[in-house]
Amino acid sequence: MADIVEAVRTQGLFKRFGQQTAVGGVDLIVPQGSFAGLVGPNGAGKTTTLSMVTGLLRPDGGLIHIDGVDVWRDQVVIKSRIGVLPEGLRLFERLSGRELLSYNGQLRGIPRAEVEQRAEGLLKIMDLTEAADKLVIDYSTGMRKKIGLAAALLHNPKVLFLDEPFEGVDPVSANTLVEVLQRYTASGSTVIFSSHVMELVERLCDWVSVMNRGQIVAQGPLETVRAGRSLNEAFLGLV
Ligand code: ATP
Repeated sequence: MADIVEAVRTQGLFKRFGQQTAVGGVDLIVPQGSFAGLVGPNGAGKTTTLSMVTGLLRPDGGLIHIDGVDVWRDQVVIKSRIGVLPEGLRLFERLSGRELLSYNGQLRGIPRAEVEQRAEGLLKIMDLTEAADKLVIDYSTGMRKKIGLAAALLHNPKVLFLDEPFEGVDPVSANTLVEVLQRYTASGSTVIFSSHVMELVERLCDWVSVMNRGQIVAQGPLETVRAGRSLNEAFLGLV
């Protein structure tokens, strides 16, 4: 573990909602270039952790570093380095897929010509070129996740966070998402996605962080964490 270059590291991350501790002292580590899975049952604290790590929710305690930069001290730098695909993806449904990408590009201050060029490339790899001028309201769940991922990748982030990206997605769209994400990590960038499905994490990830009841209960390279068993066997009863 000594030589790991970390894309994400939290220390003692803590969040309480009223009387309930949602995240109770989490030390999350994700090495650069990994395809990492944050796995755990519903209510384990995955969304709350990701929301704090991506700067959407203020922690009650703890530190968060992305590429060595403190998220809550340097939000501008961080926002340019990270891409986020939230779970309850709220898209501007009255825009077309292409308009949605242009709008996101404008929000990020990317020059128009560059946005157009990148948007066309992303629409193509997401297999959305034909649907690009249709309204997002008419998109399937898989298409919504794909256009959401395209929007998250528009500014070329180094670290990408996805909350349950495969939930409710048809198999063909899921394959496209996986291919895009694998290509992205092959180029040295980092993917972290949450899931309550152990098999999915086992199939895709080279790094895994297992959460339960607001704590990390195991973390490391997939092979080390599962120690010759399946993740389901190793964490029987969690999910
Ligand atoms: P899921 O897959 O169901 O979203 P999760 O692992 O992402 O699960 P969280 O959504 O982070 O878990 O929730 C952790 C705990 O915190 C749960 O018990 C949840 O009910 C609680 N919680 C999360 N957000 C809030 C909120 N805004 N107000 C009150 N409680 C919350």
